[in-house]
Amino acid sequence: MDADHILRQLKLTIKLMELHDENPFKIRSLQSAVNNIDRGEIDIEGKSPQELQNLHGIGKSLADTIVSLQATGSFPGLDELLAKTPSGILEVLEIKGLGPKKVKALWEELNITSTHELMEACQSGQVAKIKGFGEKTQESIIQSLQFKEANQGKWLYADLELSMDELAEVIKKHSKVVDIFPVGEYGRKMEIIEQVEWLIATDDRKQVIRALSDIDSLLQDRKISSPFTWRGKLKSPEVKMAFHFTDPADLVLEKIVRTASKAHLLHHVEGDKSLVEIIREEPHYYDESEAYQKAGLPLIPAEIREGLIEFDLAKSGKIDHLVVDNDLRGILHNHSTYSDGKHTLRQMAEHCRDLGYEYLGISDHSRTAFYAGGLEIERVQQQHREIDLLNQELAPFRIFKGIESDILIDGSLDYPEDVLSTFDFVVASVHSSLNMDVKKATQRLLKAIESPYTTILGHPTGRLLLRRGGYPIDHKAIIQACADHGVVIEINANPWRLDLDWRWVQEAMDKGVKLSINPDAHEMEGYADMRYGVIAGRKGGLTKDMTFNALSLKEMETYLQQRKNSIKKS
Ligand SMILES: [Zn+2]
Ligand SMILES: [Zn+2]
Repeated sequence: MDADHILRQLKLTIKLMELHDENPFKIRSLQSAVNNIDRGEIDIEGKSPQELQNLHGIGKSLADTIVSLQATGSFPGLDELLAKTPSGILEVLEIKGLGPKKVKALWEELNITSTHELMEACQSGQVAKIKGFGEKTQESIIQSLQFKEANQGKWLYADLELSMDELAEVIKKHSKVVDIFPVGEYGRKMEIIEQVEWLIATDDRKQVIRALSDIDSLLQDRKISSPFTWRGKLKSPEVKMAFHFTDPADLVLEKIVRTASKAHLLHHVEGDKSLVEIIREEPHYYDESEAYQKAGLPLIPAEIREGLIEFDLAKSGKIDHLVVDNDLRGILHNHSTYSDGKHTLRQMAEHCRDLGYEYLGISDHSRTAFYAGGLEIERVQQQHREIDLLNQELAPFRIFKGIESDILIDGSLDYPEDVLSTFDFVVASVHSSLNMDVKKATQRLLKAIESPYTTILGHPTGRLLLRRGGYPIDHKAIIQACADHGVVIEINANPWRLDLDWRWVQEAMDKGVKLSINPDAHEMEGYADMRYGVIAGRKGGLTKDMTFNALSLKEMETYLQQRKNSIKKS
């Protein structure tokens, strides 16, 4: 079991200890050790029992616990807690806004031991009557439950990629499989996936279907399968799957038809003929370029076959200039151990440089984000001194001094002007009071965008895909304000966020607003998320010239300097 899993089990243990009223001192001491592991202050990975015991804040008993978790995934204390907890309670504990104390109250007062019972009790108004709950809490529980329900069985694209690649490798090895391609929403790299579909080229469908059923990780659902399509699920992660089959000669055509959205296929390309009608006129194509050429179009990449903007992009010639991974020259919006990051400033910088980037923008949390170790003014100054030294050492590589400034409730930034003016760039983001209505939330962002110190608007809606919706904002007004004030909008590349949503990228570009593909990395490995931002950008039609961090170091230095100069003059 790796450190992340161990941490998750320890956090669950704490929740269960609270639920069962265990000794508060024990809970507090475990909590503080978990916080230290979580923040990366102590590293438990690959340590022997003796080494674990010697770590600060980890005594003999926690060391034993970790050893047991590493070996078996559990430990006696957790097993005991689980044995006296109804399994449905574990699900209730996962609901946003419900801490162990509230779950305990629900259990004791209303005998609620499942999310289903909880929903019923909320709908009949019983939950609001419990001391400490009230109408508002009851309403937000209902919303969380509905959100959860709506997202049942759905997965982040990023969380499926690895298992899907492995599965495709296995299938490809079968002698009767000529080729296999992802199609449908997975083929279009949608940010959220409900079903993964594949297209297999073979001239012996029956044998391949039999072979699929022999794969341990797959489970066929015969009721919905047919001789032409295998339907069922992958067991872990549990996701709906479908395999379609085609004659190898028809592969290109089938691949386009099965990947594209309906709107894409039915788009009228010439006169009254739709794309699909035109390409169906020929039975066989050598490749997808040839098929699109038949319709007088350049190749439209699979991920943007949504029927939204791709035909305009094709007409304007922009489709060949969509951003690619290699266009990105630097990485902005990252955290270090100064706030809640796992790796030091030096580690973050050296790793960035080693990956071939020209610059790093470090933007730790600002002081109001105390829960994330936000920086007091002295720490900002200390970090700036360290950056100056590192910049001398690592030149020509450069670290830009940034901050992720909380946007306070009234829309102002988190430091006085004399501190704000010491940064090279400021990412302004909302992290608190997320339940504003659209008017208040928009006003709050507009005020932040108006600040001359704001360089980038961070994760504009605060959404966490499959976990919580974002606060509502008037996208058009926000984008217009960014255009008016020269503020860049972030595409937060963390697969949980992908915020700005790609469906708004075109609007931003039309208004002349640049987009920055930012990983919001809290550890070195976090840089790898940039590719999900690139996918999102491409889906929205983002071109290289409108991508902020496609600027070279020289260009970025000039841009940021000019922006600072313009503040001094105003
Ligand atoms: Zn943030
Ligand atoms: Zn951040």
